[in-house]
Amino acid sequence: MMFKDNDILAFTLANPVEALPAQFITSEGVRVQTWDTGIFCLTPEQPGHKDIILSCGVHGNETAPIEIVRDLVKNILSGEVALAHRLLVLIGNPPAINAGKRELEENLNRLFSGAHSKGEGNNAERRRAKQLEAAVARFYGERPTAERLHYDLHTAIRGSRHEKFVVYPFLHGQPPSREQMMFLAECGVDTVLFSESPTTTFSYFSTNEFAAHGFTVELGKVRPFGENDMRRFQAASDTLTKLVSEFSLPLPIYDESRLNLYRISRVINKKTAAFAFTFGDDVENFTPFKKGHLLATDADTEHRVELEEEAVIFPNAKVAVGQRACLLVTRTSL
Ligand SMILES: [Zn+2]
Repeated sequence: MMFKDNDILAFTLANPVEALPAQFITSEGVRVQTWDTGIFCLTPEQPGHKDIILSCGVHGNETAPIEIVRDLVKNILSGEVALAHRLLVLIGNPPAINAGKRELEENLNRLFSGAHSKGEGNNAERRRAKQLEAAVARFYGERPTAERLHYDLHTAIRGSRHEKFVVYPFLHGQPPSREQMMFLAECGVDTVLFSESPTTTFSYFSTNEFAAHGFTVELGKVRPFGENDMRRFQAASDTLTKLVSEFSLPLPIYDESRLNLYRISRVINKKTAAFAFTFGDDVENFTPFKKGHLLATDADTEHRVELEEEAVIFPNAKVAVGQRACLLVTRTSL
């Protein structure tokens, strides 16, 4: 079955809960399989050595990456872009995309590595996390020797001092890939935040369970469909196109001066309903504060900067009590 206008997004949003398995071959010989809604496996006749996963829409209102991935697949299906490697495209949360919301009931990007089956409750996001895990396992499992890559594409709720950045999942002591960091720099993503503990994100799942090079890639600020200035995403879109269409991608040698490297210094959790930040909603991610600065209050607790300088990212005072209200990060080097 072909997709009208080669548009996998329109197809997915018209069938947000389920799609029957189907396949066809493009005139360029690419086998296109629908495994389920929003889950598409593309295989060229002579696949190169990379198995690439591009996921988007894990948060339903993060539209720019969804548009980038839709357009890339459109270009592959029309033959405008030649596919060199196996490619699994995942549109994470179709019902939330239809609703224009980040999530319907639960943050999908906290439900991986089995978290979907822990505790009470069974909702659409939990079922979807399980389904996406199975798709990743099937895709990577079909070819154990390939180089495994997974870029989970997002946009952030607030602005950022570093517009584009990645979260590098915890590697359990393995060294980070300098080659991957140069690839990301070529995508315009010049800031890397090293996670220092296991999490339940999608990219940690692929990294930890399948030895993939996996990243949560933040490409800019959340905007509704049609309101994204796609020029701001051109480098990312161009480099992802090269990644899927060139058998080997020439990359510059590692140059740390092109990168801003951060590590997480602390996690601040919300302990009571009285939790409040001292700064406004317009404070951008990676805004630095000096030692002693009062960042937040939580009933009787004061959260102050402890290192010479710490920057705040992902602050959200509205999370449920017990959840993470923000991360504090500090500059690091390799
Ligand atoms: Zn997101």
